[in-house]
Amino acid sequence: MNLILMGAPGAGKGTQAVKISEKFNIPTISTGDRLRSAIAEGTEMGKLAKSYMDEGKLVPDEVVIGIIKDYLATDACQNGFILDGFPRSLPQAEALDAMGVRIDAVLSIDVPDEAIVERMSGRRVCSCGASYHIKYNPPIKTDVCDKCGSALYIRDDDNAATVQNRLQTYHNTTEPIADFYAAKGKLIRVVGQDKVEDTTAAVLAALANV
Ligand code: AMP
Repeated sequence: MNLILMGAPGAGKGTQAVKISEKFNIPTISTGDRLRSAIAEGTEMGKLAKSYMDEGKLVPDEVVIGIIKDYLATDACQNGFILDGFPRSLPQAEALDAMGVRIDAVLSIDVPDEAIVERMSGRRVCSCGASYHIKYNPPIKTDVCDKCGSALYIRDDDNAATVQNRLQTYHNTTEPIADFYAAKGKLIRVVGQDKVEDTTAAVLAALANV
């Protein structure tokens, strides 16, 4: 299955990607994770990306399209993949089309803005990719990752001002791609719930028909 996950920042794409990946045994690529790794490594791409990410803006299309192009050419994703956080603009969706990549479904996890703001303020993440919420999905030990034991941290772009910018960017630039995929009959909408397992149940039920 070749799947795109859509949803506002903090809607739970990364968390659900882990569940879908386990269930269908297909890998996930998160453009956000790739960019954060590039920042941590201090690469030129990382330096460029950071200036946009810190302001809650989208990194230029050609940068993320390049990441996805390289990834889709690897053996890892030849039996299916999950794109988490890509495409995020119409030119990105069109570039994916132009690559000749078959997409089976685009799953949009819909969460109201007010809930997003609350979620982001409680989000804690790990460098291994795991994500927690202090109230809705707490780690067993405070600020320690259940999966790898590393210290959890708050993402630089999860501060209140940046979250507002990211939400605005989502509504203005990313949401229009839902129509692009709906016109192709590929869009599936799922309502994101407070409890991770409730959203997972809805997501897996929706994907059972793909
Ligand atoms: P995420 O981890 O998916 O929330 O992404 C964090 C940030 O990385 C976003 O706010 C953007 O600045 C940048 N980013 C991630 N994916 C993309 C993309 N497909 N296009 C442009 N910018 C992106």
